[in-house]
Order: sequence, then C-alpha cells, then structure tokens
Amino acid sequence: MALTLSKKAMAVKPSSTLSITAKANELKANGIDVVGFGAGEPDFSTPENICEAAKKAIDSGFTKYTPVPGTMELRKAICEKFRKFNNLHYEPDQIVVSNGGKHSLTNIFSAILNPGDEVIIPSPYWLSYPEIVRLADGVPVYIRADKSQNYKITAKQLEEACTEKTKALILNSPGNPTGMVYTREELEAIAKVAVEKDFYVVSDEMYEYLVYGGETHVSIASLNEEIYKRTITCSGVSKSYSMTGWRIGYTGSTREIAKLMSSVQSHQTSNPNSIAQKAAYEALVGPQDFVERMRDEFEKRLNYMVDRINAMKHVSVLKPKGAFYTFVDVGGTFDKSYKGQKVGNVDNLAKILIEDYNVAVIPCNDFGFDDHIRLSYAISMEAIKKGLDRIEKYLNDLE
Ligand SMILES: *Cc1c(COP(=O)(O)O)cnc(C)c1O
Repeated sequence: MALTLSKKAMAVKPSSTLSITAKANELKANGIDVVGFGAGEPDFSTPENICEAAKKAIDSGFTKYTPVPGTMELRKAICEKFRKFNNLHYEPDQIVVSNGGKHSLTNIFSAILNPGDEVIIPSPYWLSYPEIVRLADGVPVYIRADKSQNYKITAKQLEEACTEKTKALILNSPGNPTGMVYTREELEAIAKVAVEKDFYVVSDEMYEYLVYGGETHVSIASLNEEIYKRTITCSGVSKSYSMTGWRIGYTGSTREIAKLMSSVQSHQTSNPNSIAQKAAYEALVGPQDFVERMRDEFEKRLNYMVDRINAMKHVSVLKPKGAFYTFVDVGGTFDKSYKGQKVGNVDNLAKILIEDYNVAVIPCNDFGFDDHIRLSYAISMEAIKKGLDRIEKYLNDLE
C-alpha cells in the first residue's frame, strides 16, 4: 500500500471557464480595467420577493432537515411548473430537488450508469458533461454538430453513434455554449431514435425561460409516452431567477429513477438547503415579471452583439436563439499574424486578448470546438460595447 490518490479524481480537468474568470478578476483587483465575457450567470440580483421568502424561512425557524428529495410544498410547485410551462405531468414522488443543476446531473448518472456504459454528448457541449459522466464510470461518446448544421445533431448522426453500450444521450436545449434551440420536429426525430434503440435522454433544460426571437422551448419528454418514460428532465432556478448561489436544481423522471436518485442523495448531501428551498418555492409560485424583464434585456444585448460581431473581420457568429452566450467562430484569425507571429490557435488568441487588450473570452477547446470562443452577454450593455470595441481593434491589428 502507498499513499496514492484516486485516479478518477486526478483525471478530472478543473473547469477552464472558472480559471479565466479568476484571471480576469485578478487583473481587475490590480486596478486594470478588464472586460470579462466569461460570465456564466445572470448579472441581475435575485429578486426581492425571493430574498424575503428566505429571510422569513430563517426567522420562522425553517432551518432543519427536510425530506431528502425536497419539501412536499416545493415538489408540488415544481409539478405545477412542469404542467403549465413544459406540458409535462409528474407527481411529487417523481421529483428530486438537489443542490443545483450540476448536482441533479450527478445524481442522474449515479442512478442510471454502470461501468463502461456509453453516454452520447453532442459537441459543442457544456464542459462539465464529460467530467460528470466519467465520475459516474460512464464513457463519453461525442457527436460533432458543425456550424453548417447550426451546431445541432441530427437523428441520423445519433443513430450512427449508437452501440450496444449506449445508455443515454445528453440533450441541452437551449444550449450552452451555442445558444441553439432544438425545434419540435428535430426533437421528434431524436426521440424516435431513443425509443427505437432504447436508451435514456437526459434533457438539461436549465435555460428554458431564456429563448428569443419568438422561438419556443419544447421539452422532449412531452412528445409522447414512450419518450416520457426514457427521459430525465433536469432544470433549476439558477439561470431563470438569477439564483446561482442558492444551489437548487431539480429533476422529473420515472418514480423508479427518482427513488434511486433520492437514495444516493440521502447518503451524500441529504436534503438541499432548507432556506433555499423556501426561496425556490417563492421563485416558482411568486410573480414572474422578473423573468420577462431579464429575458428582454438579454435579447437587446444579444441583437447588438451579433450585429457587431458579424461586421468584424475574420470572425462570425450564428444568431443564438436561447441562453446567454454567443458562440463565435474565430478560425479565420489563426493564419493571421499578430506582432509578427501567427495567432495559430484559440488559446493564444484568448491570451493575447486578455494580456494586450484586457478582454477575457472563453476559448472553447474544453467545449469540444477548438476554433470558437464563447462570449457571454450576461454583462452590462456598456461593458459589451467596450469589450467589442477592443476585440474589433485587435482584429483590425492583425496582419
Ligand atoms: C449553469 C448550467 C447548469 C447548472 O447550473 P447550477 O448552477 O448547478 O444549477 C446546468 N447545465 C448547464 C448547461 C448550465 O449552463
């Protein structure tokens, strides 16, 4: 025996989005005026009524253990939200509330995977998916969804990627980092393959309220009874109500899966924070005008940003239909020169941008696309303008 460490834990890649945000914050702390396009959370405060509900929870002594999968009150409110917004019928015993959407995803894979099971991840993907799958002893299998297909996989690609070991597909619509939204027809075709090949669909709908340009969000589980049985629908209050720090995510699934997730959670974290549950309840049943205001503001920024970027040299972006990110193709800069040296790759581009132009962007190699960057518009319009001016200057400086 020796004092060795877990190979599984050591194989985890620390989140690169967090490290770039840290770098930007460090420069800011040193008095440098950095524009950070890395933001992975809304720049709005949690609404007052939600904060008040939390204060009331503390003052009334709602500070003890709750049922592991969440209070009945909250689970009923989640069922009601699923019914009204997603056209999905779940009973409270099909709901598990966890410590944020990430924790919900972790629980899902603990409940469905055995070692070596394959999980199909459309690429570009949110960088946590492969790590979460591997931590649950699953094997990520990627399907590349190019720009020419709006960064969305087709049912045909899905069918071709299936093997004996395929256990699940992760679907993320609206998507991070692409901002793309799958249409009902596209989801129907994907659902058909999932039912025929008999695997689960993990549907991460964290950005369901943030869709633009008249687009509508469709939950794949709502399409028919067969796909409903195979889908675990995952959402939360983090992005929709600007509650990232509160840590409340939830799932709707079959009773069987909910029971397993709850049993895993009972030994790991028990219930999610009791006060945050009260706050999440208020978020779901209270006034919803905040969501609409935030969405409208995001759409303004998005329209401005897309027009500006597409007027710049060497780069282009498809107009996102959801979430709060633009996914920018910067491949056209790689053979250009900066200060006599080829830009070459996306890491170098991000390095030049932060060091010489004081703009933080997310290089998307960890999202499966090494010639794209992600720019968030969850920052003020003023910051967006300033940041885009700097990026434009950089692109004009290339030779
Ligand atoms: C932010 C995010 C989540 C989870 O958020 P939590 O903060 O853990 O609730 C899940 N999926 C995607 C794609 C996200 O961007």
